[in-house]
Amino acid sequence: MSDAAEAGQGSGRFSLELGADLVQVRDWLHDFAVSVIRPAAAEWDEREETPWPVLEEAAKIGLYSLDFYGQQWLDPSGLGIPVVFEELFWGDAGIGMSLAGSTLAALAVVANGTPEQAGEWCPQMFGGPGDVKLGAFCSSEPDAGSDVAAIRTRAVYDAARDEWVLNGVKTWATNGGIANVHVVVASVDPALGSRGQASFIVPPGTPGLSMGQKFRKHGIRASHTAEVVLSDVRVPGSLVLGGRARLEERLARVREGGNAGEQAAMKTFEASRPGVAAMAVGIARAAVEYAAEYSRTRVQFGRPIGQNQGVAFMLADMAASVDAARLLVWRAAWMARQGKPFMRAEGSMSKLVAGETAVRVTEQAIQILGGNGYTRDFPVERWHRDAKIFTIFEGTSEIQRVIIGRAITGLDVR
Ligand SMILES: Cc1cc2nc3c(=O)[nH]c(=O)nc-3n(C[C@H](O)[C@H](O)[C@H](O)COP(=O)(O)OP(=O)(O)OC[C@H]3O[C@@H](n4cnc5c(N)ncnc54)[C@H](O)[C@@H]3O)c2cc1C
Repeated sequence: MSDAAEAGQGSGRFSLELGADLVQVRDWLHDFAVSVIRPAAAEWDEREETPWPVLEEAAKIGLYSLDFYGQQWLDPSGLGIPVVFEELFWGDAGIGMSLAGSTLAALAVVANGTPEQAGEWCPQMFGGPGDVKLGAFCSSEPDAGSDVAAIRTRAVYDAARDEWVLNGVKTWATNGGIANVHVVVASVDPALGSRGQASFIVPPGTPGLSMGQKFRKHGIRASHTAEVVLSDVRVPGSLVLGGRARLEERLARVREGGNAGEQAAMKTFEASRPGVAAMAVGIARAAVEYAAEYSRTRVQFGRPIGQNQGVAFMLADMAASVDAARLLVWRAAWMARQGKPFMRAEGSMSKLVAGETAVRVTEQAIQILGGNGYTRDFPVERWHRDAKIFTIFEGTSEIQRVIIGRAITGLDVR
């Protein structure tokens, strides 16, 4: 074998083409987005409620299921989840978030839990046709948003009963209070800050867990967001993610001044970022397509508005930036699947660029639609409202820049 062939040069192994299976999945989801999600989008945005009938439809065809998401998660290219989320959010972001919200809770269990914990609890976050369920991941608190180390919810071990006792208030939880299974991040040893935290499973119907206020939001209104109040919530000792023995070992290492590894919430966010970024790409793509079509049919001064460079150039920038964002998403997702560490914060880069692209591009789409774009008779105003969340949740744009800044300078950027 020549040196060049050994080095992979000329082998043609580099490809940006989706495999046949993924193309099939993408087209199948696109059909669902066109025929089920889009027609329901405006109604559920106005109702500001979880679109249970849509979840039911999705469960019936095997889309809303742990099996389906699990299969996509395991796609060897890493692109399964990005392709799925882009398509669902192209349909509608509020409904998309209702269809995807449980995956964040499931991911927390898979990333931090034992295989037995994942096998027992993840299926209960999805249920099945006729009995659809949700999962919720509860990290944020009123005084601990970007500053995850400031979490005050306490988990105290009651050795006599082999139970954990959880007390605190979680906020901004997607599916919070209406989920079947809640995954709660809590402090076990406050003196250790973020390194003293762990995640706990709160099973369905556990006394002491209740929903606080439900938020009325700017966008993704078909996705339920609420406070979760934990008042002397008792869960079996085995429900700390990863198991108690591993937690005790980790805490002992930290107390001795050793390395605790990554904190639980951070590990979940790092793994989920390219997927969340793909959601933003879906919204942005929807806006570009809609605005391009509008520019072909809206006539002013005797010609389609798209014939004006002022409009066509805007569309060109929009289309190019959506493709650029997707490429960052695919790179990060591919790296994660190949087990390559994000040495330059590639996951954060994808989330930062995709989120900001979605906000900018949806705003430009409103501009291209003129007055129509500003009304609820056209979907672009909803897409603009929906897009804004992507610069806020799962780490704000500023926090992504902090993470990227640290990665590329090696400095303790604050
Ligand atoms: C619709 C919705 C759904 C959500 N779903 C979930 C969920 O399911 N589970 C969950 O746990 N959380 C969830 N969140 C919470 C979300 O992750 C937080 O809102 C987010 O992390 C920001 O925290 P914060 O709102 O407290 O803002 P803050 O942290 O108070 O930030 C306010 C501003 O200060 C900036 N800022 C803060 N620190 C710095 C810094 N060091 N450098 C520069 N700028 C900084 C921020 O970038 C931001 O602009 C959700 C939020 C929303 C709105």
